[in-house]
Amino acid sequence: MATEMEAEICDALYADVGKPETEAHVHEISLVKSSCLFALKNLKKWMKPKKVHARLMTFPSTARITKEPLGVVLVISAWNYPLLLSLDPVIGAIAAGNAVVLKPSEVAPATSSLLAELLPRYVDSTCIKVVEGGVSETTALLELKWDKIFYTGNSKVGRMVMASATKHLTPVVLELGGKCPVVVDSNINLHVTAKRIAAGKWGCNNGQACIAPDFIITTESFAPKLLEALKKVLEKFYGKDPLLSEDLSRVVTPNHFNRLLDLMDDEMVSDKIVFGGQRDEQKLKIAPTIFLDVPLDSAMMKEEIFGPLLPIITVEKIHESFGLINSMTKPLAAYLFTRDSKLQKQFESTISAGGMILNDTSVHLTNPHLPFGGVGESGTGSYHGRFTFDAFSHGKAVLHRGFGGEAKARYPPYSSAKLKIL
Ligand code: NAD
Repeated sequence: MATEMEAEICDALYADVGKPETEAHVHEISLVKSSCLFALKNLKKWMKPKKVHARLMTFPSTARITKEPLGVVLVISAWNYPLLLSLDPVIGAIAAGNAVVLKPSEVAPATSSLLAELLPRYVDSTCIKVVEGGVSETTALLELKWDKIFYTGNSKVGRMVMASATKHLTPVVLELGGKCPVVVDSNINLHVTAKRIAAGKWGCNNGQACIAPDFIITTESFAPKLLEALKKVLEKFYGKDPLLSEDLSRVVTPNHFNRLLDLMDDEMVSDKIVFGGQRDEQKLKIAPTIFLDVPLDSAMMKEEIFGPLLPIITVEKIHESFGLINSMTKPLAAYLFTRDSKLQKQFESTISAGGMILNDTSVHLTNPHLPFGGVGESGTGSYHGRFTFDAFSHGKAVLHRGFGGEAKARYPPYSSAKLKIL
């Protein structure tokens, strides 16, 4: 489906969020394909019961963990990567042997209806159903009893999903968001750093990505150099008038556009713009916009930005960034740019985050050997590669005995002599 319907998928992603064709291919279609191929290649290995040690207490016996499907699972996905976030969990769910109901996001209606049309043509529609709809349809689905709910989206709805799940003791995976920090030390390759920050921010759906850099922390003395490097890279990527660039997604809806304008035009930060700021209400486009030294108590630093705005916070010493990050809720991803191995180690051991990258942004999600998910308020559970298979499986404990090896001491009548043997 992903191969034969590439053009239709690109059209839908363009209709939904103006996603550039390259991003549609690289970030959605090819990741879906590689996820399928990875599951097909590894499925036998993942399914294989895992032998574990048997204990003397049950001698003779063997012990293993056998994977079994959970049953019928619900996948609720989000609009920003509407193909990938819908199909990636579904791939693991069916690999693990479950039946699935997929509820794509109504905020990406073209991709939602394309999935509803295409999936029954390519997969067994007795075990994979697409239910389209918004709040009322999702609320109705959440009333039902599921064997697992896999939700991707904001944490407010995540809380509602978890509350509904408790009614039936249904386990959940919640793939949520948060404010992903980027710490930039001065001991770096500046040009590469600027390119990798820009690619992870504006090159991923124009900042509308859960692991997009949300804010930068650097030192007061290094901020001007970093800013100049970012400006240069942005001009090279998107030209003098980024609103005309075909390589930047638009903002998804007028509501989302207005929310971003409110953040930009907030009087606490509006005079802090040092690059960009252009907007086009008709086309729902906002240019890459950088802010310097925004107050920590501004709305921009309190909520997830999820768009093309990037504030830079400055500290006197780079180590101060750790305390600042740890004073906020745990992010889905945290990034550090430095050559200093001591700083790298400190970052890894001090900062709690769903995932982290040293010297890049966002690309960890392409490695299926790494679990992808949040911690604390950025989510619970993880997926990708084998982790998706595991998320949709139950690891059943199987102890296998014959009829020998009877220990009399185990059975009544109990006695102190028997207790000594046990
Ligand atoms: P969204 O608006 O598409 O909502 C997500 C899903 O929740 C949709 O299917 C929608 O129908 C459903 N929904 C919305 N309101 C609901 C309600 N009141 N009751 C029941 N269901 C409801 O997407 P969004 O929430 O705007 O997505 C953006 C957020 O998701 C950001 O916080 C982002 O960081 C996070 N996100 C996380 C990941 C991840 O993998 N961790 C990926 C993408 C987005």
